[in-house]
Amino acid sequence: MNHSFFEISDEIREMGQEALEQAQPYLDRIDAITEYHQLKMLKAFQNARVSESCFTASTGYGYGDRGRDVLDQIYAEVLETEDALVRHHFASGTHTLTVALFGVLRPGDTMVSVTGVPYDTLQGVIGIGGDSCGSLKEFGIRYEQVDLREDGTVDFDGIRSTVQKNTKMVYIQRSRGYSLRPTLLNEDIRKIYELAKSIAPDCIVMLDNCYGEYTEMSAPGKYCDLMAGSLIKNPGGGIAPTGGYIAGRHDLVEACSYRLTTPGTGKEIGCSLGQNRELFLGTYLAPHVTGEALKTAVYAAAVFAREGFSVTPAFDEPRGDIIQAVLLENEKRLVAFCQGIQAASPIDSFVTPEPWDMPGYDSKVIMAAGAFTLGSSIELSADAPLREPYAVWMQGSLSFHAGKTAVLLAAERMKGI
Ligand SMILES: *Cc1c(COP(=O)(O)O)cnc(C)c1O
Repeated sequence: MNHSFFEISDEIREMGQEALEQAQPYLDRIDAITEYHQLKMLKAFQNARVSESCFTASTGYGYGDRGRDVLDQIYAEVLETEDALVRHHFASGTHTLTVALFGVLRPGDTMVSVTGVPYDTLQGVIGIGGDSCGSLKEFGIRYEQVDLREDGTVDFDGIRSTVQKNTKMVYIQRSRGYSLRPTLLNEDIRKIYELAKSIAPDCIVMLDNCYGEYTEMSAPGKYCDLMAGSLIKNPGGGIAPTGGYIAGRHDLVEACSYRLTTPGTGKEIGCSLGQNRELFLGTYLAPHVTGEALKTAVYAAAVFAREGFSVTPAFDEPRGDIIQAVLLENEKRLVAFCQGIQAASPIDSFVTPEPWDMPGYDSKVIMAAGAFTLGSSIELSADAPLREPYAVWMQGSLSFHAGKTAVLLAAERMKGI
């Protein structure tokens, strides 16, 4: 369909059509995954007897907030865990993961990351690479790391030689985040879980599940003891304005609740301030919205491969998260790409992103984001540090229809560069 609301040349439109046809079987596969999770979600809502009274705002201590407790039950059901803690009080994904780590680790414990160096913001939490006030290290929690192999896959021999019988936590990061390594699939997580438990039966296998929810035809709940994620990524469905979730074994989730609030009060307090309706609505829509983001990523992989760039993952590869990386090889293209994405955003489409010196980075960074929720990355967004190999990481789109045009606008802007 050739509506011309946006300036895209015939040449790019035709290329986009070919990419769409090529990707179609994989888009259909995503539809099947979406349908599975959507129906599972619907059933969970019914099993938990969600009613309008769940949306009632509580204030103060929030004792007896039924909606809050029902939402916990829904997450536990869809994630296939014993229990869950879903709260708007979590300020970010990093905060959620931090509550989980501090919730279950104690002085003298050892945590082993088996997927190499964790996501940037977790490094200060753990105390990697120097002192950071209030880190796990400062509280006497030891950290060890099994690096990924050269090709970015998990080093099972390294796990065998590093994890000990008394290792307290085996930590897995599922998503590639902003690296070029492959994302773990539930099957990979299962293998790590089984190996870790064979060495250290009492260890806690913890999963950073950010960006991974509802991307596969299965859930990793049986292959970890504890997991956490951000509600301004997949599970908030683009509606949740903030928050996070922790899910897993009942005793561990309870320990985390004592860290989020206090020992003794745990899950019993924390008023919902009228947030419940948005959290329920976003949760319900999350499988669908994740599907839109996945389709946008698959389409982008097909388009940019046709344009001659290396993409990871390829359009026909299995996916365990919503991130798409494209290697653009030079700075001009990175800038043009991000400006094309920005120009297709519903919010701030009129601004022009430029590279800037972002604190904490050793090279300039350019970002495209035109989102309803600040920093939301289930919404269409792209980020790129200006350094070799000039890779851009894009994710999201609440709507595949809009995401397709964003991808074509990015391709259009890069024409001839
Ligand atoms: C986003 C993300 C986090 C942290 O979430 P923030 O909301 O940015 O604090 C942690 N781990 C991974 C893999 C992520 O993608």
